[in-house]
Amino acid sequence: LVDFDVLVVGAGPSGIWAAVTAARCGARVGLVERQARIGEHVRCGEGIQRDPLAEMVEVDPEWVASEVHGVRLFAPNGTFADLAEPGVGVITHKDLFLRALARLAAAEGVEIWPGAEAVGLKAGERRSWMVDVRRGSRRSSLRCGAVVAADGIASSVARELKLKGPLAPVDLFVCAQYTVAPIDVDPSVIEFHFGRDVAPGGYAWVFPKGEAVANVGVGMVAGVPGNLAPVEYLARFKQRRCRRSKTVAFIVGGVPSERNPFKACAGGVFLCGDAARIADQITGAGIIPGMESGAIAGKHAFMHAAGEARPDMVAKSFVKSLRAHFKNRRMRSAVRVVLTRMGDADLTRLVGLVGEFAAGGRPVRRDPVALLRFVARSMPTSFNIARHLVGV
Ligand SMILES: Cc1cc2nc3c(=O)[nH]c(=O)nc-3n(C[C@H](O)[C@H](O)[C@H](O)COP(=O)(O)OP(=O)(O)OC[C@H]3O[C@@H](n4cnc5c(N)ncnc54)[C@H](O)[C@@H]3O)c2cc1C
Repeated sequence: LVDFDVLVVGAGPSGIWAAVTAARCGARVGLVERQARIGEHVRCGEGIQRDPLAEMVEVDPEWVASEVHGVRLFAPNGTFADLAEPGVGVITHKDLFLRALARLAAAEGVEIWPGAEAVGLKAGERRSWMVDVRRGSRRSSLRCGAVVAADGIASSVARELKLKGPLAPVDLFVCAQYTVAPIDVDPSVIEFHFGRDVAPGGYAWVFPKGEAVANVGVGMVAGVPGNLAPVEYLARFKQRRCRRSKTVAFIVGGVPSERNPFKACAGGVFLCGDAARIADQITGAGIIPGMESGAIAGKHAFMHAAGEARPDMVAKSFVKSLRAHFKNRRMRSAVRVVLTRMGDADLTRLVGLVGEFAAGGRPVRRDPVALLRFVARSMPTSFNIARHLVGV
């Protein structure tokens, strides 16, 4: 007898979406979240690309703070390029977004345990798992057929099963962010600022949340030489961009992103999202990759628990599905390395080229390969480095 077919650990975007998917397959699903309330202590810029999101959930004004229709890229020399990208994304109230997802999960029959922390797991009888859960002063053991570990960057499940080793600096974005108000922003435009003085090996962002509020942050690949810590770059950026704004929230955090994050399952335990280290290598965006890998994990956890195929075949299918879905990671890792190595002159040139390309009126996101070709023609050295890194 099991308590659940599938137990999901962690109710971030990846875990909730894994739970919804497993429930829709027909599994009895439990979801444990150590925070007392879903969406508490969110550490995020809260931006999500609209198209992939809308494929999964109905985008609801209740949790949308701003609709994004354009991107402004600032070069180190102060020039900028405007990209018209109608409907490219939304800046969310992520706490409300997660609570709406949790309500959807509950409607699909998922049993949600807020304030419940998974503190250990071990293999049980007949291919089951026993997950120890602490809820306040009470401890219980939940028996389940499969586990989805969506417990974030510091995944204790991944560590316990030795699925992930220490995170290499090159695979980590370190971030710091203020939420500020009031700020002079166009609520439909997000900003990215580049430069060795702004954020070496990364960028600074301004994500508007309505008319006069914005998330203002800095994210940098760890280990790229720079003189200051991310919080110091952030303070400096705020001085420059919105000196008079008041800081209403401050967070720091990391985004893990491996070139090859596919070692992500063992004997009926499936990792997804930040636990699998599957965020986008160039932007550091992790919500969509998290939800998409969550869907793959939820489906395979159901297959494992239901005994639909031999466990090794389910594991193989899981890894194959992840590889197929996240197939551009080699190329994106190479682009990340090239970007982190670029000096200010090259970054300025790059922003200019992207602006020129966008001036043709085509949204960049519709044809990133054409953009890459366009840039490669004008910056052959960088392109050759990328080709070398990809091995073609
Ligand atoms: C400053 C910053 C800005 C960012 N901005 C963006 C952005 O604008 N857009 C974007 O797409 N991505 C952004 N990201 C990345 C994004 O936030 C993450 O990639 C994404 O949230 C990963 O989702 P997840 O569900 O895998 O993990 P998480 O969101 O970390 O959720 C994991 C959950 O598991 C719970 N948990 C952990 N351990 C246990 C346990 N033992 N038992 C029970 N529960 C547990 C945690 O409490 C948490 O709720 C940003 C990250 C940072 C740090």
